[in-house]
Amino acid sequence: MSGLFAGSPLERPIICERCGQSHAACACPRGRDGKVLDPKNQPVRVRRERRGGKMVTVVSGLAPRSDRTDELPQLLKSLKARVGAGGSLSQDGLELQGDHRDMLVEHFKKLGYPAKAAGG
Ligand SMILES: [Zn+2]
Repeated sequence: MSGLFAGSPLERPIICERCGQSHAACACPRGRDGKVLDPKNQPVRVRRERRGGKMVTVVSGLAPRSDRTDELPQLLKSLKARVGAGGSLSQDGLELQGDHRDMLVEHFKKLGYPAKAAGG
């Protein structure tokens, strides 16, 4: 007899390797290949840009948002509190008002991201 458990409730559910939830309940960030993106697999780049005379700090390289992944708004919230400035989600990832590049690089490194400063 083969496939004893196939189709039965004993069939093993597919479990996310990161959070231990079933895939239906999992909200971990995933890349295009469907693999979970841990912080160590998200090469964060932090750069400064001038926007109409004001500096903003742009963070790119974070896992993209998707219908199952929504970590960026939470991350933005914690970063805004950390730097004490406003910010928003952007096409690149997120950006914060003012120059916080070096501080954010250190912060992301502590969180386990291979973060680097980029640009000027
Ligand atoms: Zn997960």
